[in-house]
Amino acid sequence: MSEYKLIQVFLSQSSTNPGPGIFEVSGDDEQNLRCTCPGFSIKGTCKHTKYVALAIVENEGVYPIEVSTKASLAETELARQDPEKFREFLLKYGKIKVF
Ligand SMILES: [Zn+2]
Repeated sequence: MSEYKLIQVFLSQSSTNPGPGIFEVSGDDEQNLRCTCPGFSIKGTCKHTKYVALAIVENEGVYPIEVSTKASLAETELARQDPEKFREFLLKYGKIKVF
């Protein structure tokens, strides 16, 4: 069983969602995707995972993670070491998509 790693943070455009409307799409080594939004928990798929899946195909099998240029090389290296550090790194420096 491979570990899931956060790959993209989405901010919901919809104001009808309870809470802050921040959803996290994670993927494992086999490109299985999951999302923290309510739609995914009901249907097992959602517009966020579809967006990421399409970007993976268009980018030849790897999601093009966009990270702020403020992230230092040391922080980037540290983030590669484990999924939890990677998640913190992306929440801090990853470009959030409004969708
Ligand atoms: Zn979702």
